This record gives sequence, C-alpha cells and structure tokens, in this order.
Amino acid sequence: MSENRKELLKKYFRGRKALGEEGLWYDKKKSTMKEKLLNKLEKEVINCRRCPLGNQRINACFGSGDYSSKLMFVGEGPGYNEDHQGEVFVGRAGKLLKKIIKGVFGLDKNQVYITNIVKCHPMKDPSVPEKRGNDRPPTTQESETCIGYLYSQIDIIKPEVVVTLGSPASKTLLDSTVGITKLRGKVYEKTLGNSRVKIVPTYHPAYLLRSPSKKEETFKDTKLIKGLL
Ligand code: SF4
Repeated sequence: MSENRKELLKKYFRGRKALGEEGLWYDKKKSTMKEKLLNKLEKEVINCRRCPLGNQRINACFGSGDYSSKLMFVGEGPGYNEDHQGEVFVGRAGKLLKKIIKGVFGLDKNQVYITNIVKCHPMKDPSVPEKRGNDRPPTTQESETCIGYLYSQIDIIKPEVVVTLGSPASKTLLDSTVGITKLRGKVYEKTLGNSRVKIVPTYHPAYLLRSPSKKEETFKDTKLIKGLL
C-alpha cells in the first residue's frame, strides 16, 4: 500500500473516531457474528437428543435476550409454560423476574440474556406433558449432559455477571453441594466454558412466589449485582 493511501486511511478512521462511529461499526460487526453463532447453536439444541429429556419435551427452550448483555440469568430448566411456548421464563415466575429486572436495573427482559442449565423440560412423569405440577429439577446427569450448550452461550455472549436462580442452577455452576440459603449474598469468580465470570446466586422467582418473605434478601442480592455492573 502506498504511503499516500495509508495516510488517507488513517485520516478516514481518525475522522470516524472523532464522530464516535468507530465503536458503533465494530460492535455491529461483533453482534452479527454473535447472532450467527447463537442461531447455529440453537438449531443444535432443537435437534438434540443427547439425554432422555430431548424425547420427552414438547419444545426446546434455548434462551433469549440481548446477545451483548453484561448480565445473564440462569435458571434450572424449562417448566410447563416454557415447554408449551418454547421460550424461557414465560410463566408466573417469568413475570416476576421481568418485574425484578425492570424495577432494579431499569431494563426490559430482552435487554439482558436469560437461559437455563438444561434446555428441555424435566418432568416427574414424562407420559403426561399436559399435566400441571409435573415439573422437577434436572438430575445431575441431565445437567452434565446439557451444560456444554450453556458454556457455549457464555463464551459467545461474554457476560460479566451470571446470576444463578435457585439451588439447582447455583449448585451446578458453583460445583457445590451447599444450598441456596448459604450460597446467596456473595460474589464468586469462576471460569465457565472459556470465560471468566462473576457469579451471584439468588432465589428462584418461583420460590419467591411461594415464600414472599424472601424478597428482602433477594433485593439485597440485586443491589450486590448492580454494584458489579
Ligand atoms: S436437555 Fe439438553 S442435552 Fe438433553 S436433549 Fe435437551 S438440549 Fe439435549
């Protein structure tokens, strides 16, 4: 490249930077790449039958939200409503989570990223997927089989903070046998997949619906999370 051309290019990029366009251009390119990778991964999940849940569920629930969010929420697995609609956190617990995200962070649900440890609905009795109250937490084996998808999501999205919702998700990601009551209220640093993240465990919104007295502790956890962003 001639010196004259190099100078012209430098001048062009200096001009873009002065207009504040450099970051915008770069972020757009990065976000298109993230979208492509996540779409590919979602197709894999839709066709996945690696564990028995794949043949029992109605719809796989991959996850949804902003691909570039610093904040990711992770629950244990889809429930009845999620299984029927193919979307994460759409039932009563999802509505409460949406309210917390808006109330504390001033964000809409689609401005953070939300997913689960397992992508298919774990049921107590898989022969009756139409039955309500048939949800159960995923087994260790189911979680271990599915966790690679979550790690890939984390490697693509690169959140700074991962909020684990409830005991099963918190124990799985922190590799702990301790329950949520003891795990919550603290910040942990861990490598998930190939990404170093901060993990903050808190109560699952479904538990908060059953135990509203725990909302105060959850509020403290959300303040902790807010301080990390
Ligand atoms: S739960 Fe995960 S590993 Fe099991 S079939 Fe669904 S996507 Fe595959």
